[in-house]
Amino acid sequence: MTPTTSRLLLSMIFLCAQVSAYLVLFNILYMSTPWDEFQTHIYTGVALHPVGLILWPLIWVRAVRWTSLRIVATLAWTAGSLLLAGAVFVGWIILAAVTGWMDEDYASAICVPLAMILWPLGTVFIWQDRLGDRAARSRAAQREGVKCPGCGYALSDIRSTTCPECGRTFTVRELVVGGEQSTVEREDK
Ligand SMILES: [Zn+2]
Repeated sequence: MTPTTSRLLLSMIFLCAQVSAYLVLFNILYMSTPWDEFQTHIYTGVALHPVGLILWPLIWVRAVRWTSLRIVATLAWTAGSLLLAGAVFVGWIILAAVTGWMDEDYASAICVPLAMILWPLGTVFIWQDRLGDRAARSRAAQREGVKCPGCGYALSDIRSTTCPECGRTFTVRELVVGGEQSTVEREDK
């Protein structure tokens, strides 16, 4: 499995687990405390959102090119996503007061999970590679030169495609294009 595949699987598990944890914790708190629905949604979010704020970046930290702009944007979005969900909540409350349709219990049931899902959603756009990132990655790869897909030994000055370190032989295509991917494919066969 490539690191990207495992990150995608972890992300799926994370998002499902977040929903499950929310439902379980909400029910436990609602049954065992004197809090009403509104309070229970707020406290469930307060308890779980910080966990997501730690776990989600942990999954992706090594895949993202952390420029200072990207770090600032991520921190700003951490606050911005809360403000956005808060604005939806306030709008909802005003609408509910005017129309008498769906009270603040519904608003909290929607807006607390909304805040928790908006944050990872926004990071997808903040963390994705732009053209400049791709160029920087390719410059870094060129500086590092050709490496053995099997053991990572630097092969740049070698006159054959057999790695002197681990003894494995690769085609030129595997060395130049393949990298990590070709190792995985070979192991799969
Ligand atoms: Zn090697």
